[in-house]
Amino acid sequence: MAWEIVVGVETHAQLRTRSKMFSGASTAFGAAPNTQACAVDIALPGVLPVVNSAAVAHALRFGLAVGAAINRRSVFARKNYFYPDLPKGYQISQYEIPIVAGGALKIVLPTGEKTVRLTRAHLEEDAGKSLHEDFQGMTGIDLNRAGTPLLEIVTEPDLRGAKEAVAYARTLHALLRWIGVCDGNMQEGSFRCDANVSVRKAGDDQLGTRCEIKNLNSFLFMEQAIEFEARRQIEVLEGGGRIAQETRLYDADRGETRSMRSKEDAHDYRYFPDPDLLPLVISDEMLAQARASLPELPEARRGKLVASYGLSPVQADLLTQSIETSSYAIAAFEGAPQARWPDMANWICGPLSAKLNESNLDIGASRVAAAELRRLAQKVEDGTLSGKMVKEVLDAVWAGEGGVDEVIGKRGLQQISDAGAIGEIVDEVLANNAKQVEDYRGGKDKAFNSLVGQVMKATQGRANPAQVNEILKAKLLR
Ligand code: ADP
Ligand code: MG
Repeated sequence: MAWEIVVGVETHAQLRTRSKMFSGASTAFGAAPNTQACAVDIALPGVLPVVNSAAVAHALRFGLAVGAAINRRSVFARKNYFYPDLPKGYQISQYEIPIVAGGALKIVLPTGEKTVRLTRAHLEEDAGKSLHEDFQGMTGIDLNRAGTPLLEIVTEPDLRGAKEAVAYARTLHALLRWIGVCDGNMQEGSFRCDANVSVRKAGDDQLGTRCEIKNLNSFLFMEQAIEFEARRQIEVLEGGGRIAQETRLYDADRGETRSMRSKEDAHDYRYFPDPDLLPLVISDEMLAQARASLPELPEARRGKLVASYGLSPVQADLLTQSIETSSYAIAAFEGAPQARWPDMANWICGPLSAKLNESNLDIGASRVAAAELRRLAQKVEDGTLSGKMVKEVLDAVWAGEGGVDEVIGKRGLQQISDAGAIGEIVDEVLANNAKQVEDYRGGKDKAFNSLVGQVMKATQGRANPAQVNEILKAKLLR
């Protein structure tokens, strides 16, 4: 009987603010250890936290972007636990009443669109960091992260398997960057996911017991961790065992999850409203400002790319991974032959994005301007270039050899579309390959491809492939 894998994801997104959630200390990454935690961040006696209004504005923008309800009055609570990176003994979070409730995110899968329901999103502060390297058997503590503003975003257990969970995480990551609330830098810990994984027999309506895999900071690790964990659970269950609800860690070097601790229940944390903080009240004005500051959202732009530009949902999804990429694409499409839009989308997602990655550049700094991509499309449309030549021209423009026209001129890249010229070359190839001609006429279709190859070779790949096919066929029939 088939197993179904069920995943719910909790994401910690660091909000893009200059100062901490409740203090004026800097959030800049990379400072010397323990130089950016002030008295408020470590709750020394006599200090009072003050809510960072920029963090609240970001939370509102996110809530509106996912169509959630905004709680006009939310409450900060203390989550009490001991850990070396939390010397104050509690984390300020939101518990019973979060700022954002519900909402949904649409993700694009190879099989179509899927709506993932969100449970909530709440504001909280980050803890410090334990450092295990460089301390010879001891642990170092860096409190710079203490008090850093986070938005924790929780899904319903709507995801089925590792691929869907990763598609969700990518879509969320793109949205947060798109609306400017999180820089999304995963190496620096600005976007971390916990995956809750359980399995059940297909058709069961009860959820299985889940394990929570903490702190996945790459999409690849997330996929591997969920896949490993689901397989582990299935093996346990098929062996007649039971799943213990627990918190696990993914060891990327060994490709496996390991038990970290048994799962604590909410009551273990002794949540209570933080007596130092008043309830957070959202005014009409704050809400209106948040709404006015939102750009067109990725989902709307995706829809436009499909409806107005004829792209597939998967292409549109790739182009809306960032606001800059989608704007570049639309700028390039405008004035380009409509029939070439899907090709252009592929050039952006394929060779161009490979070049950008290689040089670690954002698309805004692309060495192939949107106008050059448009020119490329025009040159394919008017038959000057074959699809095969596109990459060569793109690479040459990238390398600084000039614009599309200049590169075509300098490299003599004209496609040969002259039927007479192609016909002559075909005649020559047929004369020199009597054996293949005979094979083809004797029913060996493969011989045809070999003949096409010969013609392409003789023209250094410049012959119009459709014409080559047509002319070859006609001549072979005789
Ligand atoms: P906690 O805050 O203790 O981690 P929650 O009940 O708030 O627990 O759930 C956290 C996440 O776990 C949510 O994303 C939820 O969808 C997911 N989840 C809950 N039950 C299951 C389950 N049986 N299988 C997979 N995911 C689950
Ligand atoms: Mg959890």
